[in-house]
Amino acid sequence: MKVVTRFAPSPTGYLHVGGVRTALFSYAFAKKNKGDFLLRIEDTDIERSSEDAVKAILDGMKWLGLEHDGEIKYQTKRLDLYQKYINLLLENGNAYYCYASEEELQKLREEQLQNGAKPRYDGRWRPEKDKILPEAPKGVPPVIRFKNPLTGIIKWVDLVKGEIKISNEELDDFIIARSDGSPTYNFCVVIDDWDMSISHVIRGDDHINNTPKQINLLNALNAPIPNYAHLSMIHGPDGQKLSKRHGSVNVMQYKEEGYLPETLNNYLSRLGWSHGDDEKFSMEDFCNWFDFEHVTSSSAQFDKAKLDWLNGEYIKSMDINKLTEMAVEIYKKMNLPMDNNELIAKAISLYRDRETNLNKLFEDIIYFFKKPDRDEELEAKFINSNSKKNIKALIGELQNSKWEEDEINQVIKLFVKNNNLKFPEIAMPLRVRLAGNLNTPNIGSIIFILGIDEVKERLSDCL
Ligand code: GLU
Repeated sequence: MKVVTRFAPSPTGYLHVGGVRTALFSYAFAKKNKGDFLLRIEDTDIERSSEDAVKAILDGMKWLGLEHDGEIKYQTKRLDLYQKYINLLLENGNAYYCYASEEELQKLREEQLQNGAKPRYDGRWRPEKDKILPEAPKGVPPVIRFKNPLTGIIKWVDLVKGEIKISNEELDDFIIARSDGSPTYNFCVVIDDWDMSISHVIRGDDHINNTPKQINLLNALNAPIPNYAHLSMIHGPDGQKLSKRHGSVNVMQYKEEGYLPETLNNYLSRLGWSHGDDEKFSMEDFCNWFDFEHVTSSSAQFDKAKLDWLNGEYIKSMDINKLTEMAVEIYKKMNLPMDNNELIAKAISLYRDRETNLNKLFEDIIYFFKKPDRDEELEAKFINSNSKKNIKALIGELQNSKWEEDEINQVIKLFVKNNNLKFPEIAMPLRVRLAGNLNTPNIGSIIFILGIDEVKERLSDCL
């Protein structure tokens, strides 16, 4: 059997982290088994679906590199196919027209609730042997209901949750086509999964209740039953289902906020699945390692601090040229003069080990090519006649030494020693003037990267 998985988002909102995690597991399972990973846009809910959401989903998948096989299937372009199978079910007696009005059904629900019963359709239009149905009211467009089996048990071994059993007595004759003829969600999914030869349905466990209905429909169509894997929800640190507040936002927002796609893929792969103690691994490793035995059936917890840590790890190990290109792209948008990639690369190398966020990294090194504004408070605290005198003397020594990083560090060290200073007494004023802030890496490295001319320029009033 060829493994074929799918990701089937409804474009009623953006692609958020829960959706990405589902997509990642489907993708990895397909890759691991040399199968296909398909993409289906479930856009039959016209009122709630939008083009913007479709675009956001596709942009997100692209950014994360979750490439799908074959063409994208849009449910709204497959209405003929659904109609064909609705007709078939009507013809072979597995579906029927129901003319019950909304008011009637509401009344039924209320009665059932009053009697302490679970609200469900009572089968009033369900055809049975020797049953006489009421006459169809004129001018009332009917819905079409599936004739769900009355007895028996639906059972499947879920790849995440284990064996699940549901009695048919719990189910009722659900609607497969609305009164305007449009097919419903459960029906389209079944036809599509069958038509697309999906071998493994991997989705959130909020769909578990749909699965028995879908299995009954597949049985009525004599279609094979796929394997099911229902993934547990992702929760926030407070134990509640992940929401916007916790970071369940459009994944593209993570891009904007300085995260790498590698970070997000890696982090979300580990939410509910593990490979020993491995925390940082490539997409390739993930695809090779992925299995359902190590998917947990309990909920996973989204941890922003860990996401940040992992982002820092990726920033540290990323190709310097690629990082430089990204920085240039951002600086161009900020209208900063961008003609010295070598300088940017050196500044990135100096800073990247201390950063966990790309935006912050790129922001922190701007002073290398844009003279920082004077900060009055820092000036008042650190720049005085004494510090100016020291700066002047140090620069004098630096001018006469070899322009090498080690050499510069050595000169500063000796200068501090020979003048009986404490290191911060010279380093802090230099930081204020050269970087515009106190929280920088080694000052000697900054001096080296800036170059003597720029250093002198920034310190001109001390010299
Ligand atoms: N369209 C559904 C959703 O976005 C997924 C359905 C499925 O995977 O079967 O939740």
